[in-house]
Parts: sequence; C-alpha cells; structure tokens
Amino acid sequence: MTRRTYAILAGLLTAVALGIVAHAQQPAPPPFATTKVDGTDGVYIFRNGGHQAMFVVTSAGVIATDPVGYGRPTGGQTYLDEIKKVTSQPVKYVIYSHHHFDHIAGGKAFKDAGATFIAHKRAQERLAGIKDPHTVMPDEVVADGGRTVTLGNTTLELIYLGLNHSDSTLLMRLPKDKIVFAVDFISVGSVPGRGMIDSYPLEWEKSLEQVIAMDWDRLIPGHPGPGGRLGTKKDVQDLLTFLQDASAAVKAEAQAGKCWDGVEKGLKLPKYESWPGYETNLPFVLRRYCGLWGRGT
Ligand SMILES: [Zn+2]
Repeated sequence: MTRRTYAILAGLLTAVALGIVAHAQQPAPPPFATTKVDGTDGVYIFRNGGHQAMFVVTSAGVIATDPVGYGRPTGGQTYLDEIKKVTSQPVKYVIYSHHHFDHIAGGKAFKDAGATFIAHKRAQERLAGIKDPHTVMPDEVVADGGRTVTLGNTTLELIYLGLNHSDSTLLMRLPKDKIVFAVDFISVGSVPGRGMIDSYPLEWEKSLEQVIAMDWDRLIPGHPGPGGRLGTKKDVQDLLTFLQDASAAVKAEAQAGKCWDGVEKGLKLPKYESWPGYETNLPFVLRRYCGLWGRGT
C-alpha cells in the first residue's frame, strides 16, 4: 500500500467513524408531537409514537379524531393537553377512523370534557361486542351513506367506502383545504403489514380507486409516512398497484396448489424491494392473499 493510498484510506475510515458518531448523537424523536399542516387555518396532526390523528380547530370548537391511546394510559389526556396549547376552544367531536384499538383506545379524557363520539355503525357493533375497557363507545353512528359534520366555518365529510382494511373505515375529507385523513387502508410509501390479517383485499382495491377519483391534494395517514411526509394521489395509486401485483402473483401460485408454505417462504416481489417494510411485511401480505386465492376467503 502506498503512503498516499494509506492516507486516503485513513481519511475515509475517519469519515466513517465520524459519521457513526454523528448518527449516534442524533436525538431520538420526541414521544409525541403536534404539527400544523402548512397552508391551513386550523388543521393539525397529533402524533403519539407511531400513530397519528388529525384535529381541526374551527371558529366554534375543535373536531378531533382517533385518541391513539392503545397501551398509553395517559395518551388521551396528552392529546387533549396538546390541543389546549393551540386553542381555548372546547373539543366538540371525536371521530373514529375505524374500530381498531391501536387508533381509538384512550378517549376518556375527551369524554369527560364533553365531546361527542362518532363512528361508523359497524364500529359501534363491534365495540358493543368486545367491550374494550379503554375504548369509549360512540354516541352517534354513521350509516353507509356517510355524513357531514359542520362546526363553525368548517365542513368535514365522513365517507364510507365499503370494505377495505376494516369493515368500519371512515375516510375524512376537508373540502376547503383539500385534505383527507385516511387511516390504515392507505399506507404512505411503505408495504402494508400486520393489518393485512383481517382486511378485505378485493373490496380494498375498489376503495382506493374511489379515493383516487376524489378531489383532494394532501393525505394525512394514520401512521407517519417516510420523514413524516403527507401522502399524495401517487401514493394511493402506488399502493393500489402493489396490492394488484401481490394479488396476481399469489393467485397464480395459489391456483397451482402452492399456498401456504410455498408462497409465504418462496414468493418475492422484487419490484418493491426498496419500499420500507418490504422484508418484514411481505409475509403478511402473502399470507392474506393465500387466504383469498388458496382458501376462498
Ligand atoms: Zn387498523
């Protein structure tokens, strides 16, 4: 090794070492955070851990969504305290995106403060059967035809698109801001994972087609996108294409008798290797489609 090569190599190693040190010193993200959505009067995102919810401050009170308090006993109170930091208006509504507890547990602080809870009727039916001690029952339900909540200067549409990630999903749309809040049935730039287990894959594709056809510009997801970014119509189209590709690939294998093990252990979708969650989440995707094409469910 020449002296010059050695010097270059030593420099590179130092740079790598410094890079590691710099990386290690990066502060961990705070456990929760509240951010205002750029260009809006009163649309905010409350993030707690890996979950997030939208809230809207209107001239006549606040419309909150999902308490995101599963496994976080003080999460609902924290969310309410965060809202109080940006407005003195009371929270009038809490709207559930769907019935899964990781998004809707923890609403007691809002209930005690007098908020009215709204969910799709199927969410209420499921909650009535399970009686989760940490989840507040809805006061009002939304039928399949949807509903509009109007508060002060704000209109929020609650739209039921049929079966998708769950059977109780409400898409929320702010027509003035052209923003939608979509939880779990639209992942932003990543491969869907465990949530595949009780999803409705064929109907899900139809939901996504409907969302693409609607009038909106930005999408707030229920789990933060890469770097915390909001979603776009391209993200929805990309997810639809992913689901269609996964479905078609498993269908062929399933009908050749390869489900479950052959598919779960052997099938790859290299086109999506660069998507966050590919390695960890692909088995959940393949298992769900084996259920559909290899089992009939
Ligand atoms: Zn869910």
